[in-house]
Amino acid sequence: MSIRLLPPQLINQIAAGEVVERPASVIKELLENSLDAGARQIEIDVEQGGKRLLRVRDDGTGIPRDELALALSRHATSKIASLEELEQVASLGFRGEALPSIASVSRLSLSSRALDADTGWTVEADGSERIEAPRPAAHPVGTSVEVRELFFNTPARRKFLRTDTTEYKHIEDVVRRLAMSRFSVGLTLRHNRKQVFRLPPAGTQEEAARRLARLCGAPFVDHSLYVSQQTGELRLSGWVGLPTFSRSQADLQYFFVNGRMVRDKLITHAVRQAYQDVLYHGRHPAYVLYFELDPALVDVNVHPAKSEVRFRDSRAIHGFIFQALHQALAGVRPGQGQPGEA
Ligand code: ADP
Ligand code: MG
Repeated sequence: MSIRLLPPQLINQIAAGEVVERPASVIKELLENSLDAGARQIEIDVEQGGKRLLRVRDDGTGIPRDELALALSRHATSKIASLEELEQVASLGFRGEALPSIASVSRLSLSSRALDADTGWTVEADGSERIEAPRPAAHPVGTSVEVRELFFNTPARRKFLRTDTTEYKHIEDVVRRLAMSRFSVGLTLRHNRKQVFRLPPAGTQEEAARRLARLCGAPFVDHSLYVSQQTGELRLSGWVGLPTFSRSQADLQYFFVNGRMVRDKLITHAVRQAYQDVLYHGRHPAYVLYFELDPALVDVNVHPAKSEVRFRDSRAIHGFIFQALHQALAGVRPGQGQPGEA
């Protein structure tokens, strides 16, 4: 076979392989876009585990009519314009890949009204390359993205979807994480038209703790210490479970770097080490932690889904996190409470 360039839609579908694994990954990308657009309130609707419908509606800045089709084009983003901006990117998105990828494997409609526009507009994509001209649509300021029949045109992918219940569970996990990442944003989640969460914006520390109790359970909040430590420009805050709230599995561990949830070996190691003297062997700590640092000191462009990061000075970061938590846990003696609880 001779070498030739792939058609754009196939390129998008290949990219979708990396960022759109299942309905929950669509929700993650759409919610991140809403947060990047400065939304204060986000409504999420899911039907049949997301296989039939995923809809995210926000009250963010919206997209002007002339940019709607562009939003669905590959490598089109409003978030960065240069390498310098990439190296200190503070938004959750920047690759300009999510919407075109999702649009290539679903029936997508994007409706939006920009802040200064007097009407809303909508564009539709049906998994092909063709995007028709925007049509006027009634929409308040903000954006709605509706994704129907995910993977309808990629049967191999659709085959890997699990039951509605399992897919829904993954969606709920994503929404839970996003809800923990921005306490100031109100969120509503409905599945098959039944409300699952309605989380009002949480402005104070008490309201944040209340939201956390809804998302992680009251026992975690009741059996945790609130930590807040700063050294120079590095800041760590959040809740760390007391040894009495240790777990048999590593299932309540959330770590956010500049508002983005990440899984990172270095961080997990630093936290484990801080708990070493206070946890029984084989038990896992529970924590919800927020780490803030200059975005230029961390590379988030490691993987398309951006759940991994690379720190410029990983030793300093490890040391800081270990110290901060070790200090916070120093007052807690081993054997406080019984292992096996929670
Ligand atoms: P990225 O987030 O990496 O820029 P996306 O494909 O997710 O790429 O989105 C493309 C562009 O569409 C964004 O850069 C943004 O300008 C616009 N956009 C997407 N979703 C929203 C939204 N909910 N509100 C406002 N603008 C949006
Ligand atoms: Mg995005």
